[in-house]
Amino acid sequence: MTKNYTLTILPGDGIGPEAMAEVRKVITWLEDTQDISFTLHEDDIGGAAYDRYGVPLADETLQKCKASDAVIMGSVGGPKWDKVDYDKRPEQGLLNLRKEMQLFANLRPALVFDALIDASTLKPEIVRGLDILIVRELTGGVYFGEPRGIEDLGNGQRRGVNTQVYETYEIDRVGRVAFDLARKRNNKVTSCEKANVMESGKLWREDITALHTANFSDVTLEHMYADNAAMQLVRNPSQFDVIVTDNLFGDLLSDAAAMCTGSLGMLPSASLGEAGKPGLYEPVHGSAPDIAGQGKANPLATILSFAMALRYSLDCGEQANLIESAVQKVLEKGIRTPDIMANGCTEVSTAKMGDALIAELS
Ligand code: NAD
Repeated sequence: MTKNYTLTILPGDGIGPEAMAEVRKVITWLEDTQDISFTLHEDDIGGAAYDRYGVPLADETLQKCKASDAVIMGSVGGPKWDKVDYDKRPEQGLLNLRKEMQLFANLRPALVFDALIDASTLKPEIVRGLDILIVRELTGGVYFGEPRGIEDLGNGQRRGVNTQVYETYEIDRVGRVAFDLARKRNNKVTSCEKANVMESGKLWREDITALHTANFSDVTLEHMYADNAAMQLVRNPSQFDVIVTDNLFGDLLSDAAAMCTGSLGMLPSASLGEAGKPGLYEPVHGSAPDIAGQGKANPLATILSFAMALRYSLDCGEQANLIESAVQKVLEKGIRTPDIMANGCTEVSTAKMGDALIAELS
């Protein structure tokens, strides 16, 4: 029986629409060859939404997103909207979307494709075969904690305050996501905090340990101080499978892990909320205004984000595998967009990269 899924597609700004056009080719291929059909809602977010609706995320767009099985986004932002009020800036649309959809777990895989091994600044023997997944808590911690602000002390000095705060339910729900994912991978979770100097880190460690004992004792759990994790990521990244950590440390560690792979145009991400609720899937990169509209954008990060949607929101892991291995084969054949171009390879446009992927899938 054909399975039908509802997707909201938000191409956004800059290279977002170009990359999303290639995702559409993959969607059409899936409909033509697999027992899957899609009901697609396309809408604007970011600067495009500001131009159309006067806000970077319209209510009706948000409602469509909430009523979907998954949301696939391109990227937002660009110099055109630099002078727009802060609360209506393109990036605010994305932050609002994450908040309103209650997406508390951000998944950032760092995967090194053999064909791109030279794109990493680390030695090939360190990153060969690398496949790690960072699960970052996305809605709590120091970015949201109260009190916060800048206070004038009246003596020529000022004080800046942010508060790192976590409650058990927040640690528990992101921990569950990490343990569940580890079970489908190499069954290991490394939990990172600073329990040695922060009470919130001590609580994090105790709660993750309790969750592990109660529900996930079949998964290997290791605790690591976040600063050591940063060192280990560049020393020996292959020791990790799933890393779970808070909002601030996750922000830093996921960027460090991403750069083990070396290429921004290849990095997908997923943001998940409660089980059964739609996830948001988007590339890690921004709207790349410097190359927008020139056919130079690498669409693979957006396509790989769509593959994550198939795996995590649509229960189509088999089709996600097909797309990921087709990406690998296209790269092995030396087909490259300019950002990942190397000696002896063939440089292609955004659209030709999408075509090459479809040819490989077919
Ligand atoms: P960026 O990621 O857009 O670009 C950084 C560099 O990487 C640029 O040289 C760009 O050409 C290149 N690049 C990025 N993606 C690429 C791809 N798929 N293929 C080929 N080259 C690629 O970051 P930036 O320049 O700092 O930001 C530009 C705009 O994007 C800003 O308005 C920023 O706020 C926004 N932004 C949005 C998101 C998002 O939508 N999630 C994330 C980061 C930045």
